[in-house]
Amino acid sequence: MANVLIVGEIKDGNLKKISKELTSAGRKIADALGGQVEALLIGDGAEKFAAELGEVGADKVIIAKASDFSAEGYANIISATISEKKPGVVLMPHSGFGKDYSPRVAIKSGSGIVADVVGLSIDGGKVVGKKPIYSGKAYANFKVSSDIQMFTVRPNSQEVVQKKGAGAIENSAAGFGDVKVKTTGSELSGGSKIQLTEASIIVSGGRGMKGAENFPLLQSLCDTIGAALGASRAAVDAGWISHSHQVGGSSKYIVAINKDPDAPIFKVATYGVVADLFDVVPALTAEFKKVLG
Ligand SMILES: Cc1cc2nc3c(=O)[nH]c(=O)nc-3n(C[C@H](O)[C@H](O)[C@H](O)COP(=O)(O)OP(=O)(O)OC[C@H]3O[C@@H](n4cnc5c(N)ncnc54)[C@H](O)[C@@H]3O)c2cc1C
Repeated sequence: MANVLIVGEIKDGNLKKISKELTSAGRKIADALGGQVEALLIGDGAEKFAAELGEVGADKVIIAKASDFSAEGYANIISATISEKKPGVVLMPHSGFGKDYSPRVAIKSGSGIVADVVGLSIDGGKVVGKKPIYSGKAYANFKVSSDIQMFTVRPNSQEVVQKKGAGAIENSAAGFGDVKVKTTGSELSGGSKIQLTEASIIVSGGRGMKGAENFPLLQSLCDTIGAALGASRAAVDAGWISHSHQVGGSSKYIVAINKDPDAPIFKVATYGVVADLFDVVPALTAEFKKVLG
């Protein structure tokens, strides 16, 4: 039997989607290993999100108070919770916050950790984390040999499944403790309307866009269908769009527009349109506007 502890994320007063993704993933693991799912939420007012995590499989939601973000403080709270609850598996978000605190949690807990997994399964009673390697050209499977198996999970890689857990609330006395670095403010770079890590649809442009001046064409399609604007590294390196828009990695469905029928993207795309993007994108936007109002 192994209980699963998931660490949710609250940012700017909102529960991040990754919290539900981790709870659902944790539920599957706990069901397979015969354990419970405990979700830790850190932040002022976190208790108002407990029911949402209960709906997707949390048996218990542990609430810890914090008025701002501190990697050291979060690591202190999470490792104190691990010491008390003794979970067999810990899932944390591979978000900006998670990337900062998770290595500290692993060190404090004396645990191995696999970062940035996109798949979780069970083999021989151990959790297997699947992660892309060689710039996404291959996948590798990892197991953690320490008593606690820790993983950070890439946002948007796990399905949210409605499966009711008890969702009981427990207040934690754990706090930041003595931290040396404090967050004094934060601002969103790039002015994205929808964050890439939260988006279920991304419209992404590359070298074919020809220049910065053509990205509003894609933004217009994004606004119409509620998508986030992405870009290839080449477009970012060319200075056409800010780095915060760069994409790379896994997608469930890919619709590719390319005027070259032999373009490599067509080997991985779900749907391919062989045409000039400057014809197709405005036509698509107009059609979506008609259909979606
Ligand atoms: C280790 C490593 C890691 C990397 N990681 C990333 C990463 O995470 N993310 C990333 O984005 N890149 C990454 N890259 C770089 C990546 O290989 C390039 O950024 C990417 O291939 C560039 O794609 P692109 O479509 O912008 O340009 P190209 O590959 O040059 O393709 C341009 C395409 O646009 C088509 N086209 C041109 N004009 C039009 C038009 N009018 N209508 C329709 N089609 C048109 C052309 O036919 C062509 O196929 C990485 C590279 C390395 C080596």
